[in-house]
Amino acid sequence: MQTLSPLELDARVDQWCLRAESGMDPTLSALAVEEHALPAFQLLVRASVLIRAGRGTEALTSAREAMDAARAQGDGLVELHSALALAKALTVSGDLPAALSHFQSGLQRARDLSDRYTEGMFLVNLGFYHGRVNNAEAYEEYTRLALERFREFDSPRAVAHTLNNLAGAVAWQGRYDEALEAYDEALGHARALDWKRGQALILAGIGGVLLRTDRADEGTRHYLQSLALAREVGDAFMVTRHYLLLGEALVGAGRPADALSFLREAVARAEAGGFDFELSSAWEHISRAEEAQGRLGPALHALRRHIEIEKAAGRRRGEEQLERLTLEHRLATAKLEAEARATRNQELEALNNALTEAFERQRKMQAELERIAHHDMLTGLYNRRFLSDLAQRERARAIRSGGTFGVLLLDVDHFKDINDRYGHAVGDAVLLGLGQRLRALLRTADLLGRWGGEEFAVVAVDVDAAGATRTADRLCHGVAAEPFATEAGPVTVTLSCGVTVFRGAPDDLNHLMRMADKALYAAKASGRNGWMLAG
Ligand code: GH3
Ligand code: MG
Ligand code: MG
Repeated sequence: MQTLSPLELDARVDQWCLRAESGMDPTLSALAVEEHALPAFQLLVRASVLIRAGRGTEALTSAREAMDAARAQGDGLVELHSALALAKALTVSGDLPAALSHFQSGLQRARDLSDRYTEGMFLVNLGFYHGRVNNAEAYEEYTRLALERFREFDSPRAVAHTLNNLAGAVAWQGRYDEALEAYDEALGHARALDWKRGQALILAGIGGVLLRTDRADEGTRHYLQSLALAREVGDAFMVTRHYLLLGEALVGAGRPADALSFLREAVARAEAGGFDFELSSAWEHISRAEEAQGRLGPALHALRRHIEIEKAAGRRRGEEQLERLTLEHRLATAKLEAEARATRNQELEALNNALTEAFERQRKMQAELERIAHHDMLTGLYNRRFLSDLAQRERARAIRSGGTFGVLLLDVDHFKDINDRYGHAVGDAVLLGLGQRLRALLRTADLLGRWGGEEFAVVAVDVDAAGATRTADRLCHGVAAEPFATEAGPVTVTLSCGVTVFRGAPDDLNHLMRMADKALYAAKASGRNGWMLAG
């Protein structure tokens, strides 16, 4: 084993990893048998398998053990490759500062040893590390340097792997044509090697670029091919990463709704496989996809899941985003609430207005009903019933105050003749005019009503017999003095009037009206156009 070159060591580790990943030897039982003399190598293989499976924490332990064992064995090359495994495990488990320092010291060591292949391995991983910390330029630069190193060797697998990373770094910076070129070359190598895992990765990368350049159908097809290959390889981690990548690419391509189903699948598979980093990333992308669809609540929920996992892993990805999204969510919620409040207020106001209107309509209707109930249709004066009510109240008031009031019953003289001569309509007009004139001749406090037909009644308040007869006289004279204007010309009418006065409690309204009626009859009998006081 000591005679292995760095390339050969790398290739052997890869072969064992492939055996484990393909399910041929998942527990690496053959490894112990074939490489039993070299525990450092066995541990290095185990660490590599775990790293490739995304199991960072377990990988860390194996890588450390591999380094210790290699040092004990005095195997500098395995020790250096174990140091690389350790740095990779630290990257996977999220301890990025520690990973960086191991990458840098390992790179220096490879340079000191003039080990250009291993230098290439450190460079490609340093590039990948920079990709993880979102530094696209450094990702590209280190990867290009690694590619230069690997091209010096006959290692199409290393070249293909590095080209795949380079394409990713370049695509990330929006240089899609360059990316597709690099992917193309990488895919050629991977196919020649029958390296399915590599093919799957590369196809996924191509799919991502196609999705970003509006070739969505072609892109999705590449992704699905890639997914099929990953399934064929039987690598749960790969499959999970594929769902994640496809989802991420769809979010990037502005198709968040399509992305969600893939991302949820990624969550399910990452949970089942314990792929912590991918689980966390899946939640992050779900959050972006939800946000892109304006669903800030679910976006926030997903981001919280992302951060929980990051925190548990001691990482801090996403905290800034949480702050931003929380703020946006709060603003959006506040806006929604304000809008809801405004709507509620508007509704209340509208309801209030409607009620006010309804009350107003009701009030008017009530008033109108009362008016109809209390007034005579033709003359607009009080009707007989309401005037009787008012007369009862006046009687009660007079009893309380010891006062008196007069009751006058007025009847138009020979009214039948008016109707006969001019017609009923003219008769109506005369009755209307007569009502208005009587009202004008009375004091404001006096009550006037139409008693029936061509008869009117007056309650003259606070008067004795003298006052009541003065009122009767004024009315008779006022009516006879001036004709009423009608369509048939001026029409003069006269009135006869019976007068009575309330003298005390025993005089009820019926009695008063009877007395007034008798006096009216007497007025008619004595020649009309005049009044008589009840005896
Ligand atoms: P007198 O009272 O002087 O004895 O004679 P008169 O002709 O007024 O008496 P009578 O009671 O015989 O006739 C009253 C008439 O008044 C009969 C009726 O047609 C008329 N009359 C009653 N109500 C109305 C009304 O609302 N409109 C019109 N145009 N005429 C009415
Ligand atoms: Mg009459
Ligand atoms: Mg009459």
